[in-house]
Amino acid sequence: MKDGWGRTIDYMRISITDRCNLRCRYCMPDGGESVPRWDILSLEEIQAAAVCAAGLGIRYIKITGGEPLVRRDCCLLVERIKKIPGIEKVTLTTNGVALGECLEELIRAGIDGINISLDTLDAECYRKITGRDCLDKVLESIRRAASFGIPVKVNAVSLDLGDENWKELIKLGESLPVDVRFIEMMPIGHGKGFPSMDHRELLEKMQAVYPHMEPDRSRHGYGPAVYWRIPGFQGSVGFISAIHGKFCADCNRVRLTSQGYLKSCLCYEDGVDLRPILRGETKRPEQDQHYRWPKELSPDDEALQGRLREAVARAISHKPKAHCFERPQDITEEADMIAIGG
Ligand code: SAM
Ligand code: SF4
Repeated sequence: MKDGWGRTIDYMRISITDRCNLRCRYCMPDGGESVPRWDILSLEEIQAAAVCAAGLGIRYIKITGGEPLVRRDCCLLVERIKKIPGIEKVTLTTNGVALGECLEELIRAGIDGINISLDTLDAECYRKITGRDCLDKVLESIRRAASFGIPVKVNAVSLDLGDENWKELIKLGESLPVDVRFIEMMPIGHGKGFPSMDHRELLEKMQAVYPHMEPDRSRHGYGPAVYWRIPGFQGSVGFISAIHGKFCADCNRVRLTSQGYLKSCLCYEDGVDLRPILRGETKRPEQDQHYRWPKELSPDDEALQGRLREAVARAISHKPKAHCFERPQDITEEADMIAIGG
């Protein structure tokens, strides 16, 4: 459907957990405080939200987190969402640590593409950024994912780690059929403590090394990245420049948090809470446990879908015109990226 500014909203990011097996300094350095298990949407609740979204014109779903692959039913969820009429593509964003173990299952479930977050190829630097020592595992995941022939993108947050860092990263796209994309740091949660590198400067530096780089206007996905091709490379280089290349006029997305809050823009807390609609009067149990979806209720249930539709349509139609990262005093979102899903 169209939002109040005439933009077509056809993309939904769904965070399925706020847990993670890494401790990225700009995202969740200390492990954060995970919410009670009961607060996290069940598989059927996410499915119901996705059915509703598809009915309102959402075509592309990105599964994210926290780390989505720490949730055991992630592959099953991909399989279920893929079967929803209207949904054209389901993709996943992961840190790649546990990807090796479930790649085949994801492929069988019908995953349409995988984004793997990796900021550096230097093992010591990787450990400093993520708090863990598993660069080799992630690199192996990237190689294996690329061998399945699905689109694979490596996403690096642009941290000022010196020129060698980006040079090594983009070379992944020379040896493998993967796009390597740089994401400007956004002042959300712990990201506020890091400078946002200007991609215009990064591109100039790349052009000095690769003077024959040229804009790549072919479609790579459903997001705001701007791509360049380097002759002889299998993949392209992409830039997602939310701060220095504001792309809000073309924004096509909404975000569902793992607790069921539908956010219409990254930097504002505006949105609607779908969880009370999904759960009705259900009381929180005394002992924390996963929420159990009532067996007799279908995620497609018409009455439930009607209530969800009204709420989701409201969130979309009230989507703010633009983010306000350049005016930090106006940012109302206080959650960390791990709670939102990037
Ligand atoms: N754990 C998964 C991963 O790392 O890909 C999915 C969730 S993570 C929050 C999604 C993406 O957000 C990652 O690529 C991460 O690097 C990025 N990210 C986290 N904090 C950010 C920030 N403040 N600004 C820009 N990107 C950020
Ligand atoms: Fe975990 Fe991804 Fe956040 Fe890193 S960026 S701490 S991998 S959720």
